[in-house]
Amino acid sequence: MKRIVVIGAGHVGFYVAERLSKLLKGDIKRGQVELMVIDPNQHMTYQPFLPEAAAGSISPRHGVVPLRQALKHCTILTGAVTEIKHAERKLMVQPYVGPAREVEYDEVIVAPGSVSRPLPIPGLADTAIGIKSMGEAIWLRNHVLQRFDIAATTEDPDVRRKALTFLTVGGGFAGAETLGELEDLTANIVKNYPMLDASEIKWYLVEYANKILPEVGPEMGAYAARELTKRGVDIRLGTTLKSCEGGHVVLTDGEEFDSDTIIWTAGVMPHPLLKQTDLPIGPRGHLECNTRLQVATGVEAGKHTVGEVVEGAWGAGDSTQVPDTSDFPMDWCTPSAQHAVRQARTLADNVYRSHVGRELTQYEHKYIGSVAGLGLYKGVANTYGFKAKGLLAWLMHRGYHLSRVPGTGRKGRVLADWIVGFFTKREMVQLGEIQAGREPFEAIAAGTDPARAAKSVG
Ligand SMILES: Cc1cc2nc3c(=O)[nH]c(=O)nc-3n(C[C@H](O)[C@H](O)[C@H](O)COP(=O)(O)OP(=O)(O)OC[C@H]3O[C@@H](n4cnc5c(N)ncnc54)[C@H](O)[C@@H]3O)c2cc1C
Repeated sequence: MKRIVVIGAGHVGFYVAERLSKLLKGDIKRGQVELMVIDPNQHMTYQPFLPEAAAGSISPRHGVVPLRQALKHCTILTGAVTEIKHAERKLMVQPYVGPAREVEYDEVIVAPGSVSRPLPIPGLADTAIGIKSMGEAIWLRNHVLQRFDIAATTEDPDVRRKALTFLTVGGGFAGAETLGELEDLTANIVKNYPMLDASEIKWYLVEYANKILPEVGPEMGAYAARELTKRGVDIRLGTTLKSCEGGHVVLTDGEEFDSDTIIWTAGVMPHPLLKQTDLPIGPRGHLECNTRLQVATGVEAGKHTVGEVVEGAWGAGDSTQVPDTSDFPMDWCTPSAQHAVRQARTLADNVYRSHVGRELTQYEHKYIGSVAGLGLYKGVANTYGFKAKGLLAWLMHRGYHLSRVPGTGRKGRVLADWIVGFFTKREMVQLGEIQAGREPFEAIAAGTDPARAAKSVG
């Protein structure tokens, strides 16, 4: 039996596995091919929905796709790949519990994505949170909502000010959309706290470049910045974080304030797993791939070059560098769901083609632009040169992502969340207690009041 292993079931891995299991259905049924998918989570996370999940517009469970239900013809392993020894066609998997196990394979598809890129800024590691997983989105929602109960209950003006001051570092998709959604949430729920005034809520957006949302182009990015400014967001361009020890924020432009909430979205870097492989890694830490999505050395930026191919190894998405050959050349494809999903299709086709001895195809794409949501009924879009803002852009954003999230059932659940949200008040429940699920019982067992076990989220 030939074993094809997919590392990571994100935007690349999930769609590759889904398509390959259709293409190889006959071989899988006959027991000639095994398609194995390895991921530390038992679900695929549709990352563009993380800001909406943090704001409560969709249920967190509806922004993820359970692998065992969606990929029925695949073998699923729930664990982290810790090492790839491609020369021996072996890799190591660490399950949640118990010793690591070795997995042998014939072909490997490497797609562990990227991780938040932390910088050596004093206090950052202890105080900030990224937004790359559903767990982080849930934590952020509970944390932000709990700030309002803290502010409304304390008599200490410094605690109150710090609780109501929020900072997002990074003005790309993740940062601008998360800030847009959460600012909208906080402006709405403050109405339920008569002792708090909306003017006390302060949101900062700090971006090192001189623009935000480069993905939607300069005109729409400038519009997004104006809109957020109108909503009271203090946007600091050409600025970054100098330190944030104990939540005391110091910006490079000299501004200082205290904040309980520091959201770090200032860039991503290739997954650290790539350091534990014998596969070729480029100068920026990415897995080097050609436009056929084979792992290869000697590939040139912006060109269809084959390079020196590493047989049996494939890659795509955020963890790779693939030449961008479009009419919107960036040398290398940028980390985006748009590239990841389209590369996944070419990659699956090429793995199949190589399996049946056909010629491989090239990854080619036309730049179609982007859409971004900035809170309920607000957005920006620039697709096929058509620029839209406000409600229309927001509808385009929702329509696009609804069409992309995998599975009819998943689409139905997301749509149902949106419809219910339209007819009901904003959900302001925070369930921070899930972060300390066993503590009340431990308190009872120790003979103390379980309510005293309640802790601040973060
Ligand atoms: C908040 C947010 C909003 C975004 N919005 C947009 C948008 O609107 N439009 C857009 O184009 N892009 C957007 N992006 C970017 C887009 O989501 C990513 O570029 C895309 O997910 C990359 O796909 P990938 O498959 O390479 O990585 P991922 O989708 O991150 O998948 C990587 C997978 O690998 C798994 N993994 C990690 N470590 C291991 C390991 N050791 N072993 C095995 N598996 C592992 C992970 O659990 C994950 O399932 C957004 C990103 C974020 C964070």
